[in-house]
Amino acid sequence: MYRTHNCGELRIENVGNEVTLSGWIQSSRDFGGLTFIDLRDRYGITQLVFSMDENKEMCESARKTGREFVIQAKGVVRERSNKNPNRPTGEIEIDVKSFEVLNSSETPPFTIEDKTDGGDELRMKYRYLDIRRNPVKENLIFRSKCSLEVRKYLGGSDFVEVETPFLIKSTPEGARDFIVPSRLNKGQFYALPQSPQTFKQLLMVAGMDKYYQIVKCFRDEDLRADRQPEFTQIDCEMSYVHRDDILDTFEGLTKHLFKTLKGVELEDFPRMDYDYAMKTYGSDKPDLRFDMKFVELNDLAKGKGFSVFDDAELVVGINAKGQSKEYSNKAIKKLTEWVKRPQIGAKGLVYVKFEEDGMIRSSVGKFFSEEQIKSWGDLMSADAGDMLLILSGEVDKVRKQLGELRLEMARNMGLMKDGDFKPVWILDFPLLEWDEDADRFFAMHHPFTAPKKEEIEKMKSGDFETLKNLKADAYDLVINGAEIGGGSIRIHDRELQSKNFSLLGFTKEEAQKQFGFLLGAFEYGAPPHGGIAFGFDRLCAVMNNQSSIRDYIAFPKNNQGKDVMIDAPDTVDEEQLIELGLQLRKD
Ligand code: ASP
Repeated sequence: MYRTHNCGELRIENVGNEVTLSGWIQSSRDFGGLTFIDLRDRYGITQLVFSMDENKEMCESARKTGREFVIQAKGVVRERSNKNPNRPTGEIEIDVKSFEVLNSSETPPFTIEDKTDGGDELRMKYRYLDIRRNPVKENLIFRSKCSLEVRKYLGGSDFVEVETPFLIKSTPEGARDFIVPSRLNKGQFYALPQSPQTFKQLLMVAGMDKYYQIVKCFRDEDLRADRQPEFTQIDCEMSYVHRDDILDTFEGLTKHLFKTLKGVELEDFPRMDYDYAMKTYGSDKPDLRFDMKFVELNDLAKGKGFSVFDDAELVVGINAKGQSKEYSNKAIKKLTEWVKRPQIGAKGLVYVKFEEDGMIRSSVGKFFSEEQIKSWGDLMSADAGDMLLILSGEVDKVRKQLGELRLEMARNMGLMKDGDFKPVWILDFPLLEWDEDADRFFAMHHPFTAPKKEEIEKMKSGDFETLKNLKADAYDLVINGAEIGGGSIRIHDRELQSKNFSLLGFTKEEAQKQFGFLLGAFEYGAPPHGGIAFGFDRLCAVMNNQSSIRDYIAFPKNNQGKDVMIDAPDTVDEEQLIELGLQLRKD
């Protein structure tokens, strides 16, 4: 038997027990006649004591071991004289009677400690060592518990878990496909699913009624921070439902997960229109842990002779409460440089400080009277001590810029508090998005999303402007400014689906070639249906106040889409390429 107990479970009640433990050497310390080894496994750390007096030979060989050696020790549990209150096993130690080295170890390239000295890339290369560290290990255990709770909740609500294939043909979700060449059908390719979207809709036609799957999705997207080419979704679809049935079900799931895994009781989630979110927070994923709503100042600030504002489509600001004292001229200069960085792209930043002593200081004090500036303050509920930050320019751009500035200010002001969770449903997204460069519409969610019921007629016959303003029956769940998931009511009518494909620029033939299977299925009694998918990795990260999904994936890719541990992607043998029909034999 390798072990009678694990390294995290022995307590004072076990004193006197004969036990066997196995694990890794976390650290060892020699004190003349005594050698202490901290033995670690997944469950914890237990102190082993080797005594020179009792067994010189054993003690000497224990001293020859090093960090991360795998050993087995047999001994008796005894009370520690020098207790460690920070460790669950800290009241006891093992008086070792015999031990064996099960495997030796190289010195690890970084310390296996909660705070390690290893950089990102090094830890990725030795991910199996990184996972020995508590923070990474705990994240993976959290993820496992979370998927179990998802299964309990959805399984308990009559959802059926169905696996859908990975070798499929392209499903457009707005990214590029990963392509897999077919050996048996040379010159032909599978695509890895960007999501099981079409399959889950076919499962509704097939009568499964409520489907879910915790499933890998693959998207060959351009590199952006915190994106992974393969990631996991909690993917769902339901028949005979309206939007609110889906929102209620997945709000219920989210509340269940927070309650069981974090002990947090979430209140009912507010619901917000996309248009309102864009106008008020400059983002379709507003962080509602703090307020700082946008206030539009066109009526008060335009037409007064300040050309920057006069030439702008929109003048809009936020009130940074209590910040006038916090921001010196130097700090404002820094903030101005921040908004002018290419990633943000603002041309400049206007500030107004309502000082505690009643003075008003502003970067545009020359252009406006005190009365005029005061009127902005009134509209923006400014009190003494507040600071207004104002941007101007084209509507869409300036909203986005101010949205970023709002987040930056919240970071600076410490308003993003850990343990504070603010979910919100964003509703009524646009159906179509016009792309100037491609000169065509794209589906804002995906091509299977239905317009809102009252918009169907407009979609069938509308002109360009009408089409641009069509609303979809689509929704996103956002928590603390992170998009947790999204979905929609689907089109289940063949004609309407064909119409949508044609608006998206597919010819009849192209639509038939790519989606004939779905259009065909719609001719056999497709029920009304809709669904949603949550990003599982992101949900785990957000539930733990962490910003990176990488920490919740056992073996993630780096920012170049590479797995540096196994060295993938990699070249393959010429023979493999020939076999796949991707290269001709030379002779
Ligand atoms: N397939 C969609 C996605 O991956 C989710 C959905 O519409 O259900 O975002």
